[in-house]
Amino acid sequence: MNAGATTPEHAVVTGGAGFLGSWLCERLLDLGWRVSCLDNLVTGSRSNVAHLLANPRFDYRGADVTRELPVDDAQVDVVYHLASLASPVHYQRLPVETLLVGSSGTLNALELARRTGARLVLSSTSEVYGDPLEHPQTETYWGNVNPVGERSMYDEAKRFSEALTMAFRRSSGVDTAIVRIFNTYGPRMAVDDGRMIPMFISQALRGLPLTVTGDGSQTRSLCFVSDTIDGLVAMAGATEPGPVNIGNPAETTVSEVAASIVARTGSDSMIEYVDGRPDDPQRRCPDIRRARKALGWEPRVSWEEGLDATLRWFADRLQREPLASGSRLAPGVAGTPGS
Ligand code: NAD
Repeated sequence: MNAGATTPEHAVVTGGAGFLGSWLCERLLDLGWRVSCLDNLVTGSRSNVAHLLANPRFDYRGADVTRELPVDDAQVDVVYHLASLASPVHYQRLPVETLLVGSSGTLNALELARRTGARLVLSSTSEVYGDPLEHPQTETYWGNVNPVGERSMYDEAKRFSEALTMAFRRSSGVDTAIVRIFNTYGPRMAVDDGRMIPMFISQALRGLPLTVTGDGSQTRSLCFVSDTIDGLVAMAGATEPGPVNIGNPAETTVSEVAASIVARTGSDSMIEYVDGRPDDPQRRCPDIRRARKALGWEPRVSWEEGLDATLRWFADRLQREPLASGSRLAPGVAGTPGS
């Protein structure tokens, strides 16, 4: 961090027009930073950052970070590498792109950090634990990942990103930080994102059945976006290399999540159980003792509060952009993925 600097601190955010990236850009601007947002919009949207474009401290550039990170400014304090396909719907549609953004994209982000002396914050994922055999998951657990399974392009891309990040740290002295993000939800998730919360909410608001894969007893731990962003910001300002779990340890079953969304929306939707998916994690819950100790971080937003804010956003979005029939959100098509 650039303590005592005369020019504001400068962050490069890859994937900055996505769900988490756009909230991160906004938060950093609120804190007085300059922000360079790089995104190829493969799943992100300019509308996520449209309200930031007039800010002179914000620079948006269309860029595929597997090719380069076009940043003119010699002063870079933090490189946040968030670019990735992040939903199973997208990473299974674009498996090679997913592996490339985890490998070449991470390499380019690390090279930028090395050139500029910036701290690199890598957004990794709870998926590095695969279908975990330890519960809750601590950062010292190495995971149970199928390297040739249907989710392997994402899980292994993130595991490779972590290994590459540690290689740069050990061999080149780059200041690095790894954050393992657990399921995060909130406004600005794309309606057709395919992950559990946007899918259930869109189905409930449209009066469609909520499609739960398997018997619904698999668990997830859901963190509201502002809490996750607090964790990402804290990680940039810390010396902790990680990995650090950032997630909400309140564990709930997928069936409970679906029922809660039906109740909160007042929807007539039924819950429909469809075949389970290969390698779908059965249990997911972060141990956040390291985040508490190293970052003084813990989630603050309750499920009810976070869900209501998310529902308001989706209701507004669906009113303005009703989904076409045959959308990916049609019942039975999407699963109950983690991220
Ligand atoms: P998202 O899809 O909304 O955002 C990802 C962004 O990366 C998109 O804007 C996309 O266009 C961009 N992108 C992808 N490939 C790119 C490339 N080659 N060049 C430039 N931009 C590219 O997803 P998100 O939920 O905001 O996820 C952000 C990060 O957090 C990802 O790295 C994801 O793996 C990680 N993560 C998210 C969650 C979650 O629950 N949201 C959980 C664990 C990890």
